[in-house]
Amino acid sequence: MTSASADLLAAALATAARGWHVLPLVPGEKRPAFPDHPAARCRGTDLRCRAGHTGWEDRATTDPDRIRRAWSTRPWNIGIACGPSGLLVVDLDRAKPGDVAPIGWAEQDVTCGMDVFLLTAHTAGEAPPVDTHTVTTPSGGTYLYYRAPAGIRLGNTNGDGGAGLGWKVDTRGWGGYVVAPGSVVDARRYVTTDPRPPLPLPAWLAGALTPAPVAPPVPVRLPTTTRRERYLAGAVAAEVARVEGATKGSRNAALFVAAQALGQLVAGGALPEDHARTALAAASAAALATGAYGEGQMHATITSGLRAGAKRPRTLGEVAA
Ligand SMILES: [Zn+2]
Repeated sequence: MTSASADLLAAALATAARGWHVLPLVPGEKRPAFPDHPAARCRGTDLRCRAGHTGWEDRATTDPDRIRRAWSTRPWNIGIACGPSGLLVVDLDRAKPGDVAPIGWAEQDVTCGMDVFLLTAHTAGEAPPVDTHTVTTPSGGTYLYYRAPAGIRLGNTNGDGGAGLGWKVDTRGWGGYVVAPGSVVDARRYVTTDPRPPLPLPAWLAGALTPAPVAPPVPVRLPTTTRRERYLAGAVAAEVARVEGATKGSRNAALFVAAQALGQLVAGGALPEDHARTALAAASAAALATGAYGEGQMHATITSGLRAGAKRPRTLGEVAA
């Protein structure tokens, strides 16, 4: 056994000793080595597919004997199947040369996945949960490990799509894996940079990663129209004040936060979108006059904030009676 193979075996055993389910990845690469066929082309000839196709997630193991047998044959890289390991891993990528943050993120001075993650925490009014088990990837990316919450089966998210957190931020849960430390890609190693045990996934993050309902929830009818109107007017006024009161340097961020708050009400069916847009645009008059941002940028930030808010719809049923 070469020393490279011995290192990988030791790394696989150490990972499994943490209770994390490992799977062999193609040597020098990031893709699972087994099975070598997709479910659609399974002929049941693979030993592990005799009782039906078995994918990499179900093959992942913590059994030291199976790991020794597998890793003594070839210098496999190591994958961690996040779902069976009880992990939710946030994958923060760096921008590649020529990669530019899309409209909606660029205005927030975002240049990489970590920026998006920190801004997401800030917007949620939470401390960024970065003091957790951390692995650095050869391309300078960061994997933040969390203990997945009990009772919710979180899958994967990719960038801005679905319940995704944003540009250059992927998350891996059930159906996903990450490359474990000790693995080597392009002659560079994945390295554990913070060995502490993973934090429990914060509730606000679990909420953000939970897919929004397909249809907006039906607003609960309140006893009087007056209370509903009063509440909406108050919510809009508070966000208008936030935008108008923002000081130099924080005006665009304030507009984003305000749009996100109103976006929750728009998504919940409580507030018409054009009403939210009109109010936010009017509140931006001072910022536009001082050149804090231009009109195009203003609309982009409003759109981006409304979109972020739509991930957590809020109905008037949540208003205290
Ligand atoms: Zn199969």
